[in-house]
Amino acid sequence: MPETAFLKCIRTGCGATYGLTEPRYACDSCGALLDVAYDWERLIVPGSLQFFAERWATRNEPLDFSGVWRFRELMPFAPTDQMVTIGEGQTLLQQVDVKRLDLPLADGQLHLQYEGMNPSGSFKDNGMTAAFTMARMLGKRRVGCASTGNTSASLALYASLTRTNDGVPMQGIVFIGAGKIAYGKLSQALDYGALTLQIDGDFDACLARIREAADRLGLYLMNSVNPFRLEGQKAIMYRVLEGLGWDPPDWIICPGGNLGNSSAFGKAFMELHQLGLIPRIPRLAIINAAGANTLQSLVNDKGLGWNDGAWDDTLAAEFYLDMAKRNQRANTVATAIEIGRPVNLPKALRALDVMNGIVCDVTDDEILDEKARIGRCGYGCEPASGASLAGLRKLIDNGTIGKDERVVCILTGHQLKDPDVTVGYHMSAAQEKPAESGKAAEIAAQQRCWANAPVRVPDDLNAICTAIEGA
Ligand SMILES: *Cc1c(COP(=O)(O)O)cnc(C)c1O
Ligand SMILES: [Zn+2]
Repeated sequence: MPETAFLKCIRTGCGATYGLTEPRYACDSCGALLDVAYDWERLIVPGSLQFFAERWATRNEPLDFSGVWRFRELMPFAPTDQMVTIGEGQTLLQQVDVKRLDLPLADGQLHLQYEGMNPSGSFKDNGMTAAFTMARMLGKRRVGCASTGNTSASLALYASLTRTNDGVPMQGIVFIGAGKIAYGKLSQALDYGALTLQIDGDFDACLARIREAADRLGLYLMNSVNPFRLEGQKAIMYRVLEGLGWDPPDWIICPGGNLGNSSAFGKAFMELHQLGLIPRIPRLAIINAAGANTLQSLVNDKGLGWNDGAWDDTLAAEFYLDMAKRNQRANTVATAIEIGRPVNLPKALRALDVMNGIVCDVTDDEILDEKARIGRCGYGCEPASGASLAGLRKLIDNGTIGKDERVVCILTGHQLKDPDVTVGYHMSAAQEKPAESGKAAEIAAQQRCWANAPVRVPDDLNAICTAIEGA
């Protein structure tokens, strides 16, 4: 009997399919990425999304409590007794006051999907729960990833809590590069007990190396080339829809690094639309950091597009060759999106096609200011997440997003992931200001105007009271 879930090459004109019994991260025949695909005709899919809201009533069942597996009929690749869950995805869509963010949107039109509330503090848990489920089905004991931080934190957490079907604890293995790494994230991998290998190379090098090690040692690769990660991450969009009473917003905005998240969002909407479960598909805006803007350059400058699944591989190849020639590396304060060669590029092109999407990039200064503004509203996030709001501001300013449109920004990671950057931002403003004058001072005052540096006061009650009353 044919299986109802299988792997399928995303390239039109290839479309090779593979069973789920062996790990596979690329098409054997053409090398392109693989989708987890379903024979929906032979599966039972609820007739309306409201079905999923009713699972709130049975949330004492761990699978109904999970913000991912609550939607299991929309990612039906595993039997329920194999599903790994630690209560991921308890994240809610929150409305935020546009006036406090000084954004010219209509009241009530901006929502933040705060994925920092996940068990390991980033959206990565949505995908990891699905990939660990597949690892268990494949009988894998060793799981590994190359990571700029959050993937390793999430992998280490799930590895520490998951056993194989034979009852053996899983071993988490993490490759970190010589580049920047946020200490909050590294501390998690170490604390959860993952074997952490520090490699003399950047992220792109680490990923290449771990793919080789995966082949040789049979460890299961948990980077977002693993298509099961993306299956779990589709649930972020299901929860966004749920938060809006199943009425799709006009825009979804998210930061773009390896482009797994944006790819997953595109697949979620493609399937929901195909299944007749939503009336329309929102638009997608993927935000790159200016110092790691491969997607932005390829799409906006080189005209790269999905082209009905026959995208032009040579454009990216030339771009990478040119980067290598100029010895140019990704460089941004937002380490979670500091990626030069995004592995999910073709899937992100498809997402842009399905969701009538756009790409733009924002500077590190814009990212940091926006991060601080969100913090003022009580939604702490890490730098990469600030890119969502920095992108929104830019897209409203240039007229792409209309003032009456309904927007959802994804806050991908928790504030405490990268305290050095946060404290650095608030402290540096205090040091920089006096040195500036004239136009430079004006610009400096606009930038970092959300900085909240500590005030130095002598150990003296009068001075302390003056400082408080004068603030
Ligand atoms: C991984 C990550 C990103 C980038 O997501 P991609 O799926 O790689 O594009 C953005 N923000 C945070 C906090 C992340 O952990
Ligand atoms: Zn193929």
